[in-house]
Amino acid sequence: MEPARAIADLRELHRLTGGPEGARRVAWTDEWERARSFLYERLDELPVAVERDAAGNVWATLEGDSEDIVAIGSHVDSVPSGGWLDGALGVFGALEALRSIAAGGRPPRTVALVDWADEEGARFGRSLLGSSAFAGTLDLEAAARLTDADGLALPDAVSAHGVDFEAMGRAGEGRRERLAAYLELHIEQGPVLEAEGLPCGAVLGTFGVERWRAVLTGRAGHAGSTPMDRRADAGVAAARAIVALQGVAREHGGVGTAGRADFAPGIVTAVPGRADVLVDQRHLDPSGLAAMRAGAERAFADAAAAEGCALAIEPIWSIEPVPFHEGLVGAAAEACAAAAGGTERRLPSGALHDASELARVCPATMVFSSSVGGVSHAPEEDTPEADLERALAAYGELVRRVVAGGVP
Ligand SMILES: [Zn+2]
Repeated sequence: MEPARAIADLRELHRLTGGPEGARRVAWTDEWERARSFLYERLDELPVAVERDAAGNVWATLEGDSEDIVAIGSHVDSVPSGGWLDGALGVFGALEALRSIAAGGRPPRTVALVDWADEEGARFGRSLLGSSAFAGTLDLEAAARLTDADGLALPDAVSAHGVDFEAMGRAGEGRRERLAAYLELHIEQGPVLEAEGLPCGAVLGTFGVERWRAVLTGRAGHAGSTPMDRRADAGVAAARAIVALQGVAREHGGVGTAGRADFAPGIVTAVPGRADVLVDQRHLDPSGLAAMRAGAERAFADAAAAEGCALAIEPIWSIEPVPFHEGLVGAAAEACAAAAGGTERRLPSGALHDASELARVCPATMVFSSSVGGVSHAPEEDTPEADLERALAAYGELVRRVVAGGVP
């Protein structure tokens, strides 16, 4: 494993499909195909069979002694004006791991590099498209109704890139059952590793999410003529509840955010008669997530009661936590510690990744590289080069060990 080769590939990819305005590899566009062509050129130098599955995911397979497949990869697609490493690091890190294994002759287990199609959902709003089709969790009927900003339907966009939409659900056929493990390298997109001075860490799993709206209803009134003791101020109730939400997240070891609050009538001369608050809560553990949700609802009910307001709660979206495979997480942590001077660090992922879909069908884990300032989905996204080298080395060692049959 030569991390410098992967970094050189990443810089070249960024020269071809990025620049000062950021990466522009939005899925189902010509720039995305250009990025994939660059990957194909690199794969041409290796003794691998390259094919696209029914969902447009690219697979490059190096046959081994065993039928079991160790899948390694991520996604080359990006958001518009995205970072140079989000997704690409995992694909070109996997390419370098594949190169180094191929150089050693026929491996004990079959190794397959995968580039998942449309991880970001940047154009049609459906993230993890290719990996969910592979895992068998894609709702084709719902996906068929998605359109981009120009009104183009998703089925038409994928067919322009050689994918038969109706057949996408068959993406996993013949391969899914053979997967022994899935390993993904990704930039953290958060500030944790950087703050601890660590180049990389093992990922425990991806957070479950509870997203809901709280509607607080009080009584609108004139800001001048309504005495303080005669108010039912929905704005104050919302403020109390939002502060309490922070405490609930801390108490349960998760995260909780009120990303938006709207007051009505929404003018400076009126007591708010109504407040709509959008809440997002995330936790790695299902019972922790449920306890956080219950705690927050109680906090909103208490805040409403204290201000003489009524409360209604409307669910928006939820997804359960996806814990990664214990044995693989342990192996990833050891590989990171070896590359990072002995410090083992395991951390949850606040964002979803293709590995979240793969963890439903086989043992999976991820390695995170540090993220400068935690910035991602922006041109400024970066990992210091010394950290990149160590994260790549740790990932390469993890892949080598799993391909050798050491874990799981
Ligand atoms: Zn990504």
